[in-house]
Amino acid sequence: MYEYVIIGGGIVGLATAMDVGKKHPKASVLVLEKEQDLAQHQTGRNSGVIHSGIYYKPGSLKATFAREGNRSMIEFCREHGIKHDVCGKVIVATKASELPLLDSLFQRGLDHGLAVARLAPEQAQEIEPHVRCVGGIKVPATGIVNYREVSAKYVELIKSQGGTVQTGTRVDRLREVNGIQVIETPHGEFEAGFVINCAGLFSDRMARFGGLDPGAKIIPFRGDYYEFVPEKRYLVRTLVYPVPNPDFPFLGVHFTRMIDDSVHAGPNAVLAFKREGYCKTDINCADLFETLTFPGFWKLARKHYREGIMEMMRSVSKRGFVKSLQQLIPEITEGDLVPTNSGVRAQALMPDGKLVDDFLIVNGRNSIHVCNAPSPAATASLEIGRFIANHLPEVTPAPRRDSHFQS
Ligand SMILES: Cc1cc2nc3c(=O)[nH]c(=O)nc-3n(C[C@H](O)[C@H](O)[C@H](O)COP(=O)(O)OP(=O)(O)OC[C@H]3O[C@@H](n4cnc5c(N)ncnc54)[C@H](O)[C@@H]3O)c2cc1C
Repeated sequence: MYEYVIIGGGIVGLATAMDVGKKHPKASVLVLEKEQDLAQHQTGRNSGVIHSGIYYKPGSLKATFAREGNRSMIEFCREHGIKHDVCGKVIVATKASELPLLDSLFQRGLDHGLAVARLAPEQAQEIEPHVRCVGGIKVPATGIVNYREVSAKYVELIKSQGGTVQTGTRVDRLREVNGIQVIETPHGEFEAGFVINCAGLFSDRMARFGGLDPGAKIIPFRGDYYEFVPEKRYLVRTLVYPVPNPDFPFLGVHFTRMIDDSVHAGPNAVLAFKREGYCKTDINCADLFETLTFPGFWKLARKHYREGIMEMMRSVSKRGFVKSLQQLIPEITEGDLVPTNSGVRAQALMPDGKLVDDFLIVNGRNSIHVCNAPSPAATASLEIGRFIANHLPEVTPAPRRDSHFQS
């Protein structure tokens, strides 16, 4: 039997396993991941931004974890020699009507204690010469990194602490027998004193397997990206973001210089017809049925159908996507961009149609379920892991029962 089993080998599960191992050095820790490799889903398909925390509501877990996470992620990268760059970013308003929102974002940055600077259009252009705007904010604390590399380092540290990371092992069911969590997989059963569910796009289903109703359903939102052809990368020096729609948890299509020096544009946010569906044509009938029969989905759709249609159009039409980007950098043309890998966000939605804005971590009996860990969870992974490890009970080791796998 393992004292702690973590389900999901994305950045949140791995950071959690690392911290649980640190906090309970004598305990046995196991990570189970269904894919043959780690960090294959949200963690390996994101913008690679180390967020500053400027966007998030004061007092929310997101705000605290992002601010602390920005510092801890940069420190972690420095300590372990992971390539990263604290290059800063600019957020720009392209119309006068966006200026009040830009100003309140600036104020929020100050409230969070960030060294933000309000920029006149010419100042924004000194940083990003190809941007056209009516005002901007410079956020120096923002950085870039490859979160797959960060995850690989977490794995190394988990193993050096004596933990086990097992890939290719999908968890199909959880049940409790005499206070022990029995984890069913196609390769046999595992036993755990305590289970931590970090299954990302499947975290709500995993919670239900464990007999817990998280109160929210994961709705998958695909984000498509384009990449600049190498000769046009000069159009973006660092990171350029629009003023976000305050009703949405997504930040709007933006430009990101990645740590490998490529420049990405995106992501948009469209309903995915499959939880891990990265192509526009990917459909899983069970996933889609679950979304379409959830009352919260229709309430959300009724409220935001205009934005939804816009996003769908941007998804099917490169011209539409480029038109949005031209609001920030007018000289971009369709020929400057080629499609690149998309990602799917696990976004929790409540039955009343409200998108869960904050991280949602639900306690079960002998289990914890991370049921909403959207952006900036990669930035904040060390903080989420620490938070969970600090909230775990001591688990008394019980005698091992026969199980298919041993540590
Ligand atoms: C398009 C996009 C852009 C983003 N940009 C940023 C950014 O710039 N900065 C930032 O901080 N955050 C960003 N995010 C958010 C960030 O990537 C995620 O919040 C973070 O990666 C979540 O990590 P996770 O471990 O919870 O999920 P995941 O990385 O999805 O990992 C969950 C794991 O659980 C496994 N799993 C699922 N079901 C089972 C099962 N039954 N048995 C075993 N294993 C299972 C999956 O295979 C997967 O490996 C972005 C996300 C997306 C999608």
